[in-house]
Amino acid sequence: MAGLQLRYETGLTGEEYVRTEAWREARLERCPNHPHGGCSVARHGTYGRKTPPGAKVPRWYCRESHTTIGLLADCLSSHLPGTLDDLESVVVAAEGSSSLEAAANDVRRDAVELPGALRWVRRRVRLVHDVLARVIGLIPDRLSGCAATMVAVRARLGSAGALMQLRGLVAAQLRMLPSPLGFQPRGRGVPGRKPVFQHSMGPDPPPGAS
Ligand SMILES: [Zn+2]
Repeated sequence: MAGLQLRYETGLTGEEYVRTEAWREARLERCPNHPHGGCSVARHGTYGRKTPPGAKVPRWYCRESHTTIGLLADCLSSHLPGTLDDLESVVVAAEGSSSLEAAANDVRRDAVELPGALRWVRRRVRLVHDVLARVIGLIPDRLSGCAATMVAVRARLGSAGALMQLRGLVAAQLRMLPSPLGFQPRGRGVPGRKPVFQHSMGPDPPPGAS
């Protein structure tokens, strides 16, 4: 069964999303696989996210195309736990640190061992820098010549919630853009979770990426 993510446009922070249970308000305008109608797409419950605690993602199911469709709120990272705001804070902290080791110590105080914390921070920095590099070319009016760092993009957009703002600015390309900003699952997914097969017009993953 294929799984798709679509954007649930909302300005809510993760905390507000959970407090207002905004997933109840989500509506799917049309089935992405049958935009002219004619299929039996219907609400299909929710699935829970571990972080932020209590967050749920509303889901639909199209029987004709065997596809589940999740509406992902703008505050939530795609295929990565947590919110885009929290992710942005980690990357900004790492960019401002003297080393990734120092950033890992600061950001993951709960981590028992430094190597684990270091991997955690390094992975997030890599994912975000990779997607920023792609996004910059998509919105030259806003980010032309901008360095592919969180600090630089924040300064250009004049926003401390730059990743959330980018969700809206590149809304039309989210299916092609890699997670955690876009909805294209990475080859190297979340540990313990199988990569999600997805109907997509996106590029094939590079050889050996999974
Ligand atoms: Zn359908």
